[in-house]
This record gives sequence, structure tokens and C-alpha cells, in this order.
Amino acid sequence: MKLFKGTIASHGIAIAPPITYEKKDYIINIPEKCDITDTEKEKERLRNAYTELVGRLEKLKETALDEEKDLIDAEIMMLETMTTEAEELIGDEKICAELAVRKIYEKYEKLFKESGSELINLRLYDLRDLASKLVAILLNTMEKEKKLYEGRIIISDEIYPLDFTTLVKHGIKGMITRKGGITSHVAILARSYGIPYLIAPDFSASIELSNEIILDAINGYVIIDPNEETMRKYRELEARYEEIKRIYSEEALKKAVTKDGEEIRVLCNIGSVEEARLAEEYGCEGIGLLRMEFLYMDRKIPPTDKEIENKIQHILELVKGEVIVRAPDIGADKPVEFLRLEHEDNPQLGVRGIRLLLQQKEILLKPFLKAVVRLAHKYGDRLKVMVPMVSVSEELKEFYDELIKIVKELKEKGEEASIPVLGIMVETPAAVKMLDLFSKAAPIKFASIGSNDLTQYVLAVDRGNPSLSYLYNELQPPVLRMIKEAVDKASSSGIELSVCGEMANKVHAIPLLLGLGLRKLSVPISLVGRTKYVIRELEISVAKKLAEKAVKEIADKKQVYEYVDKLLEKHRIFSV
Ligand code: PEP
Ligand code: MG
Repeated sequence: MKLFKGTIASHGIAIAPPITYEKKDYIINIPEKCDITDTEKEKERLRNAYTELVGRLEKLKETALDEEKDLIDAEIMMLETMTTEAEELIGDEKICAELAVRKIYEKYEKLFKESGSELINLRLYDLRDLASKLVAILLNTMEKEKKLYEGRIIISDEIYPLDFTTLVKHGIKGMITRKGGITSHVAILARSYGIPYLIAPDFSASIELSNEIILDAINGYVIIDPNEETMRKYRELEARYEEIKRIYSEEALKKAVTKDGEEIRVLCNIGSVEEARLAEEYGCEGIGLLRMEFLYMDRKIPPTDKEIENKIQHILELVKGEVIVRAPDIGADKPVEFLRLEHEDNPQLGVRGIRLLLQQKEILLKPFLKAVVRLAHKYGDRLKVMVPMVSVSEELKEFYDELIKIVKELKEKGEEASIPVLGIMVETPAAVKMLDLFSKAAPIKFASIGSNDLTQYVLAVDRGNPSLSYLYNELQPPVLRMIKEAVDKASSSGIELSVCGEMANKVHAIPLLLGLGLRKLSVPISLVGRTKYVIRELEISVAKKLAEKAVKEIADKKQVYEYVDKLLEKHRIFSV
């Protein structure tokens, strides 16, 4: 049994044999010669294929992101030109429609290549794809392709929206891509067609086409060669999935109140404006973690203070409730191109998070601070700023001093600026130990447990090392004990504590977190419904007993799971 982790782009469960999807190029095999006699009939055949393809593109436009709509319009124009010229060629040379399309494409290929422009060459790729799709319709390839893909889980590096809609018609059961994002057009389409879709960058199994794999796009896993017990569990789940899905989506919009009346706040982790757009509809009660890193990746120069301000403001406008903005957490597993960071032997223990911000004040820290102090003036307490990877008090003090300086500087220039509500990520054991005393360095009002990093530092297990994944687990008793200490220290010093690491997404972790005293969780938007469902089935009094047992008496992870399983079973809570 082999497991791959991924990001859920569209919820669901699929158990099916996989198939690697490769874009077919129907242009290659068109014969050089194919004479016809009835040119009018041939032109009509081509026009019909054109009309069908334009229809598909127009349909795609309905769900496309704004910037993609223009591209689709450009494609429709290219298609129109290509078809009109191919029709003329059919009349002039008395050749079949497929060959006419190929000849017109080749004419443009020659012209484009002669232009030497990279941009125009990029369009050539689109043109070939359109020509190939037109020919595919002419050749009536649908039936042949359907046989190949029907009932299968598609695996590919990347899939384009138009290809995806064709695959849906073929009856695919699920999809895994190595590239892509949850806000891409394909992801939106997958959600609207109800096709489970996982983005798994590390997926690399050499797959047996005849064997079934499990696509668990509820928890974010692909399971290859599942054992009998796992298969049995998933078959049951697959059968009940529609019912579970309905329950999760109904629960998402309700308040997360436990059976004994305690309200838990469920916020969301996001990284983009597009996700913020979905937040309300998915039941997020605010943003518990806005990851700023994505604004810094894949670019040649750092973002300016204005760019940062615009992005955060956009999100504040889209979301109701608080927005916790994390200062860029760059370094280690989150490199950015423009910084050209030096090689480190131990990057997870190296220059990352607040350390990097303080080492790169001009490029990273100051523009970020300028943006947030301006916004704090406009949005008041609704905006909160969180410092990543804090370990010692000195670095927090330096951050805060810089914040005060920036406010002063802007005010002297006549700008309006305020100090935002400040908090820290608790993701190092040092931060847990010092949580009650950090207010000596800066006026900390809140803290959020970054269980992903906290787990790796408590257990001394690299979170990204697959050969140690059997050890990496947030339910390990030492991690639970560390969280208990954070809860105690936060409560004794009046700091509001939440969890924004992946632990908060795990069904088995939720009773433990509530039992340990947490009342605020932040999870990916797609998991709000499930999180609220689990909370609403629990009782704090029961969760407390469980957590107490886990931190006082249990020495190994297996036993923790056994106890949680018993509780979930007793309360008839689905554990997936
Ligand atoms: C964490 O460490 O739990 C966390 C939320 O931060 P990230 O995963 O971005 O490091
Ligand atoms: Mg972290």
C-alpha cells in the first residue's frame, strides 16, 4: 500500500483503475492526399465541427475566470479564421476537411515561426490544439476515447479546461494532476461537475492500469495498492458519500456549537483572492490564516507595499469577520526566486520566517509593514497580523520596534497609519515555552498553533521527508502535551489561542483539540463543513476526558487513535 498526499481541488471519493492522460494530436496522422467530389457537403461537415467546438468554448466561458474569458474569445476568433480559410481551400483544391484544416494550420505555423516572436510562438501551441480538436470532431474520435477513459481516474501533469469537459463526457470518475491550483478554472469545473480532483505534486507511482486505486479527495490522499481492509472501508464510504456530502454542505453554513452548547469558531486558511471569494459560501467565519507567501513566489522582483496592500484590502473587502494576515513566511520549504537564498545544510532550522524578515528588512519586512499599518487604520481590529516562526523574544521585539518605526515614519509623511492587532504563530517548542512572557517584547493579543511545524520540531522529524512519514503525526502524545502547555500558557496570560495547522482538519484531532481547550480552528475552505459537522456531534465534557487521558496516561500514538476511534464510534461520527 502506498500513499500520496495532495491538495483537494474538488471533494469526493473515487475507486477506479487509473489511466495516464496525454493530449492527442490528431493533426499528425492526416494523410497527404484525400480527394473529395462534393465540396459543398465537405464544407458543411467542417462548419458543423466548427459550430460544435465554438459551442464548447462558449460554454466554458460561463465558468471561466475573468482573465481567461479574453483568451477564450481570442481562441474563438482564431478558430473562425482557420475554418473560413479551410473552407476556401476545400473549394479550391477539392480536398477533405481534415486535410484542409491541417494545411491552413501549417501555413500559420510557417508564418508564426518566421516571426521569431516568443509570444506568437506560444499562440501557435493554442492554434495547433484548436486544429487538433476540430479534426477530432471531424474524425468522430469521441467513441474511441470514451472506451479509453470511461470509469477511470485520470492522471496527468496538467489538464486544460476544454480537455476536462471532454473527459467528463467520457465518464471519468476522478482526476489527479501534478500541477494546478484549487482556484484554477479546471478546479472550478471539477467542483461544478462533482468530479473528485486532487492536486498531488509528488504523485509518481508507476501505475498498473488494471488495478483499482483510491482517490480520497475528502482527506487529500491517493492510495495505491490498498489492502483489503482499506478497500472495504472506502467502498462503504463511496456508497454513503452522497449522503455524507449533503450533510457536510448543510453543516458548513451553521454555527459550530457542540452538543453541550459550547460555540467553536471555524475560520479558514487561504492564500489567494480567489479563495477569499469562496469563503462565505463555504461557511468560513473569517480568515484564520492568510498565507502571504504566494504573492512572493514565481516572480523576479519583490512585491511593493502597494501591491501587498491591494491584495490584503481586496480580501478584507470580500470576507466578513476577522482576517489574520501572516507576515511572509519564506525560506526552507517555501523558497522565492528573487531572493536567491544561500544554500543551507539545515534549512528547516535555518533562515526562515521571522528570521528572514529581519535579515531582509528593506526587501521584505518594511513593504509588508507599510501595507498592514495603512490597512489597520482603515479596517481597525478586523485586520490582525501574525508573525511566523517565532522562537525567542528578541526577534519579536525587533519586529515590533520596526512596526512602531514604520507607523511613525508614515505619519510624519502625513499618511494615516495604526498599529494592527498583533499575534504570533506557535510553531516552535520555544514559542510554547515562552508564550506567557512574549508580551514583554510586544503586545501580543493572540496566537495560532502551526501544528505542521510544531510537530516537526517537537518530534525532530522533517515534515517533508517521506521516509519518516510514519513518525510524523500530530496525534503523537509529545505533540499533544506540547499543545496542552500552549493552551495553559495562553490562558494564564490572556492570549486568544487557535490552531491553523493541518491538525485542525483531521477528524481524529478535533475531539482532542476541543478537549485540550481550543475554541477556534482554522481549516481549508473545503473542510469547513466536515469540521463543523464533527464539532456539532461532540460534547466538550466527553472531549475533555479524552484529552486528559491522552496527555496524562497514553504513551503511544496507536493508543490515542484507539481511544479517539471509540469516541467517534460511540457518537456515530464518520471518521473520514
Ligand atoms: C504550520 O506550520 O502549521 C503552518 C500553518 O504554517 P505552514 O504550513 O505554512 O508552515
Ligand atoms: Mg509553519
